[in-house]
Amino acid sequence: MKHIRNFCIIAHIDHGKSTLADRLLDATQTVTEREKQEQLLDNMDLERERGITIKSHAIQMYHKRNGEEFTFNLIDTPGHVDFSYEVSRSIAACEGALLIVDAAQSIQAQTISNLYLALENDLEIIPVLNKVDLPSANPEEVTDDIVDLLGCDREDVIPASAKTGLGIDTILDAIIDRIPSPKGNPEEPLRALVFDSVYNPFRGVETYFRVFDGSIKKGQKIKFVATNKTYSADEIGTLKLVQFPQKEIKAGDVGYVITGIKDAREVKVGDTITDAENPTTKAVAGFEDVKPMVFAGIYPVDTEDYEELRNSMEKLQLNDASLVFQPESSAALGFGFRCGFLGMLHLEIIQERLEREFDMTVITTVPNVSYLAYTNKEPETPISVSNPSDLPEPSTLNRVEEPYIKASIITKAEFVGSVMSLCIEKRGEITNQTYLTQDRVELSFDMPLAEIVFDFYDRLKTVSKGYASFDYSPIGMRTSKLVKVDVLLNANKVDALSALLHVDNAYDIGKKMCLKLKELIPRQQFDIPIQAAIGAKIIARETVKALRKDVTAKCYGGDISRKRKLLEKQKKGKKRMRAVGNVEIPQEAFMAVLKLN
Ligand code: GDP
Ligand code: MG
Repeated sequence: MKHIRNFCIIAHIDHGKSTLADRLLDATQTVTEREKQEQLLDNMDLERERGITIKSHAIQMYHKRNGEEFTFNLIDTPGHVDFSYEVSRSIAACEGALLIVDAAQSIQAQTISNLYLALENDLEIIPVLNKVDLPSANPEEVTDDIVDLLGCDREDVIPASAKTGLGIDTILDAIIDRIPSPKGNPEEPLRALVFDSVYNPFRGVETYFRVFDGSIKKGQKIKFVATNKTYSADEIGTLKLVQFPQKEIKAGDVGYVITGIKDAREVKVGDTITDAENPTTKAVAGFEDVKPMVFAGIYPVDTEDYEELRNSMEKLQLNDASLVFQPESSAALGFGFRCGFLGMLHLEIIQERLEREFDMTVITTVPNVSYLAYTNKEPETPISVSNPSDLPEPSTLNRVEEPYIKASIITKAEFVGSVMSLCIEKRGEITNQTYLTQDRVELSFDMPLAEIVFDFYDRLKTVSKGYASFDYSPIGMRTSKLVKVDVLLNANKVDALSALLHVDNAYDIGKKMCLKLKELIPRQQFDIPIQAAIGAKIIARETVKALRKDVTAKCYGGDISRKRKLLEKQKKGKKRMRAVGNVEIPQEAFMAVLKLN
């Protein structure tokens, strides 16, 4: 154990975590020339394209210094708030963390939130000032910021460039000299933390773990404490870029196990693995079930594809345990699924994967959070509402609670005013304002989660000209004055367009929604009235005017065969459009409420 170092890299997004990981792999010759690709750890196509790390991965490196060989287990962590629970589990598997700070951008919201997670787990922090090669770098100032934040000495901060390789040797030394070797008792019963799992279509679920006590042996009967299920450790091993099967993995070390589990839901990140016959009495602390934060309906564009969509969702769930769904039906859209996601990015990823991996064409409805409705029935029992159209009748409704979050925003002093107006517009209440430095301010707000779901990120970027970073954590449910706003197209209520809105904003948003829908719904042979209503009361109205005759005529002019080809092509390009009654509604219209500004 003396020669093992377990660490992770934490950073705000884009500060260079993946690039630095690649440099460490180079420096320790973990990767052969042939395997070398940019950003090796981001191996899912989608991750590469979006330049983000969705799932964390572990990788083992060997590093020799003065004849002594060390084993480094690097645990890569996802950088997006949607996946913050995974970050916290990866951190719990380590003794140390490289805290990367971009020398041009300095400390940002996720630098701080990840640092807190690391400090809560008593990790040794090695601050790395990255991107010092950039002309826009401010190494002196940013070093001051880091010293202020950590209370460390200037000499502790390692200037580096993951691009040029500067500072990498110093980082390798610091990993050995500053990060403690793992403690733990190899003689005690097996106690290992599950910090990640990956679905492999051929081998089932691969579970990544860190052994705290005891050891895990090939063929051992193991038990997962939270699910209370027992499996055989059919294969265990360590990870480089490929898996290396081993006979035993001992206390202090990191590895993977394959047990033949085919459903990702059976392996829960944060769970403890122990010996089935001689179980540990002290499960690793801190296990929690991840709960979906954002809900939306997913419907097939072609109603005949419902069963195929169900199959695809089931397969996706085998592979992504954080996706939850159940069948629902909509008067407007027919049969589909109400799905729960960790956040908006997760929603987008699922939608994209359905289309790419399963060749499905789907309509996603307006995302919403999950509410608790209390009716005037005694005794008072909350009804969980994850679809606005399920809200009980207003006359029977006592009150509605919605989830709140604590938002932390770091911005430049000059943008404090506009960030504050935005947060207040989004029903935020300021709880704290701290000057981190003369020019950088941290603002804390209590805000409804629903307001973050709607266009908040984009607005925040706009009002701060890009100089604001944002992070949040849930703080429970609070009572709010919410009303259901319905949308009628051609006098038919389209349930999939209903939204729960705060009473003070309902009129304004209802009006903007009608205007937006007018823009998005294609003109047809007849006028299409668009109305927003609260109960029976119409609060806004617009009309999509009928096409004039000559315009229609033009549509059919020209080279017919060419036009037909175009049409075919469009079909192939999968136009996401749904007919509701006699009105054609494009996908964007279902998201209209998200893009009102
Ligand atoms: P992550 O989101 O923290 O994983 O960040 P990445 O490693 O994906 O890096 C974000 C961007 O910064 C990429 O375009 C990298 O090429 C670039 N980058 C990372 N490290 C450095 C560095 O030391 N110098 C410069 N100039 N660019 C860097
Ligand atoms: Mg990355």
